[in-house]
Amino acid sequence: MKLYNTLARKKEAFRPQEGKTVRMYVCGPTVYDHLHIGNLRPLIVFDALRKYMEAFKGWEVIYVQNVTDVDDKLIERSAETGDTVEEIAKRYTDTYFSLLKQLDVKEPTHSPRATEYIEGMIELIQTLIGKGYAYERDGDVYYRVSAFKDYGKLSGRRTEELKVGARIAASEKKENPLDFTLWKAAKPGEPKWESPWGEGRPGWHTECVVLSREFLGEMLDIHAGGNDLIFPHHENEIAQAEAATGKLFSRFWLHNGLLMVGEEEMHKSLGNFAYAYEVLQKFGPETVRYFYLARHYRKPLDYSEGGLEEANKALARVHTLIDEVEAELGETDGGPETPGPSAAGRAFIDSLGRFRERYISEMEDDLNTVGALAAIQELVAEANRFRSTAEGSDRLALKKALNLIGELGWPLGLFQRKKPAPKGLQDELIKLLIELRAELRAKKEFALADSIRDRLAKLGITLKDRPQGTIWT
Ligand SMILES: [Zn+2]
Repeated sequence: MKLYNTLARKKEAFRPQEGKTVRMYVCGPTVYDHLHIGNLRPLIVFDALRKYMEAFKGWEVIYVQNVTDVDDKLIERSAETGDTVEEIAKRYTDTYFSLLKQLDVKEPTHSPRATEYIEGMIELIQTLIGKGYAYERDGDVYYRVSAFKDYGKLSGRRTEELKVGARIAASEKKENPLDFTLWKAAKPGEPKWESPWGEGRPGWHTECVVLSREFLGEMLDIHAGGNDLIFPHHENEIAQAEAATGKLFSRFWLHNGLLMVGEEEMHKSLGNFAYAYEVLQKFGPETVRYFYLARHYRKPLDYSEGGLEEANKALARVHTLIDEVEAELGETDGGPETPGPSAAGRAFIDSLGRFRERYISEMEDDLNTVGALAAIQELVAEANRFRSTAEGSDRLALKKALNLIGELGWPLGLFQRKKPAPKGLQDELIKLLIELRAELRAKKEFALADSIRDRLAKLGITLKDRPQGTIWT
């Protein structure tokens, strides 16, 4: 499997450093508000990568994602609303996890809260001070960028260039404008912890280093996030981790492109955003997943409702096949006397393997979900062609196609069979309407019969007349 490694600036062959265990860290949310729709992209694409590795490579992925529950943004929100930082963090942590569930994103193996690991962050900062990579000024601690010779290796920025235009704010007491905060002294009323430098709180860049090491050890296989995190966040993580251990921090760095609105990136601060829950309410989670996976994860993606509607249509092509084949097979399925497929049926079953191979080669080429979805759409087209001529027991060959669609869709979080609706009143009522319609047609009362069909269609229920009777989806 090849993945584009930002650190190497090229695709590289990936395998776990140790056996079948992949140690993967993805930067998590700062829980001060609901997510906007652009925040979902890393969640969906790295979830697809994880599930692909688990389902198709047989690797176990230890997936760690932090929850930043202390930060300037939380403190600001607390000042605005009068709620405590803890109340705000709890509220948006809960909405975050319910969003993951709704989106069918597998829960991280570990989701550490930053505030539960302050001690480890203090220890890391002490180590960095001891080695000359950090210094204290009046209760604040800064990282000494000039001491770390590899600074800039991930982002490709040179410290001389970065210095141009960098300023030191009047409130800061840095040696150098590039130095960044490791520990911040508390102002009155802010959340705070005891430390050797007085009461305060750790900086965000320190958090990810400590939380990843806590659960994954000193060297990660994959560290991932949005490409807006490359600089300074990930660069600063590398500077701390590698200065402290002398070892490579992460073998692979994966970054997704951002969601764009016109020429601009979608950002809360620009006001050009839509909340994820609003978009999910309107389009549903599967459409949102398809929308993201239909574009390569490293490219920027334009946000528009038209784009989501396109995704919805493409998704519907697959679901129509699944629903119709399932409804048709409902009557004819199974039984020991069912004869085997004909030569045409066997040829169709044999052809399925090449769609699976194509899907795998696309997914292993830097997670090319665009090609993987194309392979599934071609499989659907092939199944529809076969279906138009298949008869009798050959139709059972279509079940194999549905099973394959389910298998290939699993890592993408798409095309999973819905749980069968409870056999109940609804089914009985639709059956009753279908029977009434048939009686009306028999009496040549076509206008009324069509009206039943059309009014059901408005409720999302499609009737299809087949030689063996009317089916509904
Ligand atoms: Zn991070």
